[in-house]
Order: sequence, then structure tokens, then C-alpha cells
Amino acid sequence: MNYVSTRGRAPQLGFTEAMMTGLARDGGLYVPAAVPQMPPAAIAALSGLSYEEVALRVMRPFLGDAFTEAELAEAITTAYAGFAHPARAPLKQLAPGHFLLELFHGPTLAFKDFAMQLIGRLMQAALQRSGRRITIIGATSGDTGSAAIEAFRGLPNVDVFILFPEGRISEVQRRQMTTPAEANVHAIALKGDFDACQARVKDMFNDFAFRDAVGLTAVNSINWARVLAQTVYYFSAAVALGAPHRPVAFTVPTGNFGDIYAGSIARSMGLPIERLVIATNQNDILHRTLAAGEHRLEPVSPSISPSMDIQVSSNFERALFDALNREGAAVAALMGDLKTAGGFELPQGTLQALRAVYASGRASEEETAATIARTHATTGELLCPHSAVGVCVAEAHLGAVPMVTLATAHPAKFPDAVVASTGIRPALPPHMADLHARPERMTHLPDDLGTLEDFVRERIAA
Ligand SMILES: *Cc1c(COP(=O)(O)O)cnc(C)c1O
Repeated sequence: MNYVSTRGRAPQLGFTEAMMTGLARDGGLYVPAAVPQMPPAAIAALSGLSYEEVALRVMRPFLGDAFTEAELAEAITTAYAGFAHPARAPLKQLAPGHFLLELFHGPTLAFKDFAMQLIGRLMQAALQRSGRRITIIGATSGDTGSAAIEAFRGLPNVDVFILFPEGRISEVQRRQMTTPAEANVHAIALKGDFDACQARVKDMFNDFAFRDAVGLTAVNSINWARVLAQTVYYFSAAVALGAPHRPVAFTVPTGNFGDIYAGSIARSMGLPIERLVIATNQNDILHRTLAAGEHRLEPVSPSISPSMDIQVSSNFERALFDALNREGAAVAALMGDLKTAGGFELPQGTLQALRAVYASGRASEEETAATIARTHATTGELLCPHSAVGVCVAEAHLGAVPMVTLATAHPAKFPDAVVASTGIRPALPPHMADLHARPERMTHLPDDLGTLEDFVRERIAA
């Protein structure tokens, strides 16, 4: 199984190399050279299996001979053993035809744990084999960082550096990153927004001398292995609701487009997904793109759903690659325009191709708050603000097929928004009850590439 870059000018890689690299050397993202197909009978056979067994069957064909079936099964089992719900990704019914897929029962209370816990295990296995050491660098709007730190803390041969936008994440998110005591964990509060964090990480990857010297590895949602791990819960949910015999639709609270792109991979494999609805907050570049055919950056406007406060939505490049009939040169040209001119018009036919798979909607701050209050009043369910953006947009897209909205984080991770809407302060689960008493450790750094690279080199040498 080979992986190709969305910009068409990087070498093809196998699964392990694509996972250990993250970003392709031409600036593009790795995607499978061909998406393996899952025939209806194979999808039907997933019915009644455990989440772990579904994961093994869905992911196996993408790995080629990178890991044996036993190694993959072992990684999957240990990755999800720490989840607080036996179904791992339980479905709850909100209303007739509308379901909530709870993806927040992992150790850091957001869906990012599904992928990060697994790639932590897979990378560890690959490093043990090769004897290499790596430096993981990631930018986070809050949840990727804590999930990465949780997955890699204390591992030999790995250092983890996480850049987060100072003052723009919730206190629980920050404390999850700044309280682990292991020496290989380095939390960096950057003076800038999430897009600045993400841009500096990309700059470090494009500094090939630095990249090779420190063994840079990206575990941001651009990492193919993360996308792959997230395709699994689309299968488990759809099969529970009648796939392959009945189609389903999904609404996905979206920022960097990794989670919803995983849905499109499930769809390409043969899962009958009628529509994937992109739900955005007031940072609505993706909704504007789908509505008007123009992808244009605007300043980030902080919201009560901070993990979606993004304009540069990295994985959208993968959707463009598909919509542009996999022409890397065309993708590279558009990405060039995005960087130099702040946006681009979708070429002829591209908008139609995107609309064949995706729909979109936007929830304002008021609508998000009202959705938290209304959903609690009618169902008793407390939604985190990101999940509420999803539910709000999904309610405008209900149709003949069942709708599944992804609940991307636990309400206790964003207690202020929940209290403001319902008067209820959601409690942290027991394993985190003393989070506010643990000592914090972080480094404040300016938005400057040279300073960041020096810091990484010094810490690794130490
Ligand atoms: C990361 C995140 C999102 C956005 O997911 P993408 O894959 O970046 O689109 C939404 N909600 C929460 C809680 C998140 O942590």
C-alpha cells in the first residue's frame, strides 16, 4: 500500500514512512494511492463486532505489510483499553432520526484520543524496530496537544513539543498539557493564534536541515495515520444504524477538516454515507467555500468552541485533491494562491465535485449557546460547545436518512460555555478530578521560527 502527496512532487511512501513523516517534502499531505474497497458483505459482517474488531478490519488493508495482523490487533487493543466506555464510541439518540456519536470517552476527553492513542502505539513499535529517535512537534487549538502528550509522555526515544496559542484555550485544555511531569513533554505557549502555531510548525518542517537533524515528526491531523484511525467510528456508527442496507448522514464539527475527511475515506471505501455535513462556528471559511465557491482567509475570531477557531484548514487540501481528480499540480497552484493572495476561486467543476460529498452550515455564538440549553432541556444531554455547533447545523440538515452528529469533546472540557447556557457545571471524570491542583510547567515563546528551533535543539540536547 503506497501513499502519494497531494502536491504530486514528493516520493511515494509506505504506511510506516508516511506515518513517521507526517507532512510530505513538497508541502503536500499523504493520501492512499488507491482507497481499498469494502464490499457490502464485508460491511454487513461488522455488525455486532466490538469496536476493536471493527478497527482491525477497516484499517488492515491500508497498512500493507507495515505491521502484522497480530501487531496491529495488539496496538488497537491497548490503545482503547483506557477508554471509559465499553462501546468506545457509543451512539445516543437525540430525536427521531438524529443520533449523537460520543467520541469523548478517551483519556483527554476529546475525539483526538481515538487516533493519538493508536499512533502512539504504532510509532513506538516502529521506533523499537529501527532504533531511531524522533521529535514530535505539533500545533494545537487545544485538544490535539493534550491527546499527543497523553499518548507519548514518558516514551523512550521521543520528545514532544506542543505549541498552543497563549490565552486562547480553555483552562482544562491548558492544564492537560502543562501538568504532565515527564521530562520528554514540552508545552509552549506561543504569542499568536492557532494559525500562527500551525504556520511555525509548517516552517520547521520546511527547514529540511532542522527537520532531518532533530528527526521531526508531525502528529497533527495532517498525519495520514490519524485520519485512518478516525474512519473506524464512521463504520461502527453506520453499521449500528443499518448500513450497508440503509444509508446514513453525518454532521461533523469541523476545524482542520481531519475528522470529516476520515468520513469521506469511509465513503470512498464503500460505506453508504449519503452526505457529510461540515459544521463551522463563526470561523466559517469552509461554509463560505461550499456556499460561494471561493476559499478566502479572514482573521480568526475567538469563539466558545476554540478547537474550531481556524481559518487555514489543512486537511481541506485532501478534499481538493479528490475534487481536482487527483492532479497534484493543480492543488499546488491553489495552495500557492492561498499563501500569497489569501485565497482562491474553486476551478470549474470543483465546487460541484465537493457538493456531491459535502454539505455545510454555520452556527453563531448565540445559536451554539441556545443549542446547549435546548438540547439539555429536551434530552438531558450536556453538549460541549463544539458538539453543539454540530447539533445546531445537523438540525437544519435532517432528512430521510438517519443523521449522526459527532460529539467531539466532553462538556467538562469546556465548562464555562456549558455553565453559561445551562447553569450546570459538568464534573471532570474521576481520573482528572485533581487537575486543578497539579503544578503547571510551560515555556512562553514569541512567534519566531529561529527562537523556536533553538528551543527545540536545546531541550533535545539536555
Ligand atoms: C479538533 C477538534 C475539532 C475539529 O476537528 P478537525 O479534525 O480539526 O476538523 C472539533 N471539536 C473538537 C472538540 C476538537 O478537539
